[in-house]
Amino acid sequence: MNRADTNDEAQSPQDRRRPEALPPVPGIRAVPGMLARLFRGFELGDVLSTREHSDDFIETRAEYIAVRLRFMILFYAVALPAWIPLDYLLLRPEHVFPMVRIRLLTGVFLFALGTLGLQRRSSRHVHVLLALMVSASCAFYAAAITTLASGVAEAPLAGYTAIPCLTIAMLGVFPLTLVWGFGLIAAITATVFAVQLGTGQLFTLAALNELWVIAMAGGISLWIQAGQMLMLLKLYRESTLDPLTGLINRRVLIKRLGALVEHAKRTQQTSCVLMFDLDRFKRINDRYGHLLGDAVLRIAARTLEDGLRKHDVVARFGGEEFVAVLPDSTIEGAIAVAERIRQAIEAVTVPAGAQETITLSTSVGVTAYEPGEAIDTMLNRLDGALYQAKKLGRNRVVHSQSGSPPESATAAIAALPSGV
Ligand code: GH3
Ligand code: MG
Ligand code: MG
Repeated sequence: MNRADTNDEAQSPQDRRRPEALPPVPGIRAVPGMLARLFRGFELGDVLSTREHSDDFIETRAEYIAVRLRFMILFYAVALPAWIPLDYLLLRPEHVFPMVRIRLLTGVFLFALGTLGLQRRSSRHVHVLLALMVSASCAFYAAAITTLASGVAEAPLAGYTAIPCLTIAMLGVFPLTLVWGFGLIAAITATVFAVQLGTGQLFTLAALNELWVIAMAGGISLWIQAGQMLMLLKLYRESTLDPLTGLINRRVLIKRLGALVEHAKRTQQTSCVLMFDLDRFKRINDRYGHLLGDAVLRIAARTLEDGLRKHDVVARFGGEEFVAVLPDSTIEGAIAVAERIRQAIEAVTVPAGAQETITLSTSVGVTAYEPGEAIDTMLNRLDGALYQAKKLGRNRVVHSQSGSPPESATAAIAALPSGV
């Protein structure tokens, strides 16, 4: 008999107790799978420290933190003195003047920090300012509680005991790494500990309660900070990385070239730029289709990355064009790199069906950035060198230096992709 046809009467007592319609309760073996789904896409390295972040993301994040930090510092610089009338109403008369002094001193310090401190916005600078702001908050808390220690009921009344928790909660506004978030929260907790020790409150029930609340607030704050960091990273990656090859896009490249100008001004070191254009790429698309063309572009991108140093930058400039920036390199060194990559591209074989393989070649333009010149001037010279490489028969490196005509650096005969 078909089970679907069975009515209630016909079922055994066990069947009635455990109707089949209910979904099975997931067993313990399902837990790893559930956890894996929960944390899908989560990379600890993304939020732990900046080790795996690009220089450009580090600066972008610093800019983001700086905007929020300035607002917050200036808000506190104004709010601290503005609170003085409340102290006057809530505190014992002998405590009012010392507290006014502490508030004014902290307010002036924060005002100076907010106005002068954020002129420069490098990541290091911004993090030092953040640490200084947290230190100011800790110092204010320690000074206030120590001053009010004799009036046991006054500190909680005027909200002073809540300062550490408020500061920790406030850190949730920033996309911090776990290392930084944890470090700042640990510094705040250590201050509370020291104040409890100094006021003889250590290990009292109220003190333990305060530490417990701080631990809870710290955990929540770290969670929010990591969430901010992940969201910022996701938006950054979507807006700066080429989805096909994973290389940085043209917009970020232009920013990096701007940084190169500053670098050249500071160090007077030569840096070189390479432009690659895959040869006869349209034919690959026409013959094997765009999907295989896409796969070839991805392989070409990896080959470029593999041929460069860690601190070199490579971007997808356009369809089948790539640009690499080689900071602090001589023109001879850059030509050698370009030649090595040209050969590596030439050695690439991509299977296309049972019988055929696609081979590639690339033309390369090389130039050195002349300190003081406009980026566009350099890009035009680079484009000229690449054009010359195509004109001379493709699959070759041509370098061009300011004031002299493009010159071939490759003796290779142009090789078309085989079978194309
Ligand atoms: P040349 O040696 O002169 O550079 O010849 P070429 O065929 O490489 O140059 P052309 O500029 O005529 O063609 C570039 C081709 O690159 C055209 C376009 O279909 C292809 N292309 C651009 N972007 C993509 C992409 O994202 N995926 C794929 N599959 N093809 C692309
Ligand atoms: Mg092209
Ligand atoms: Mg091409």
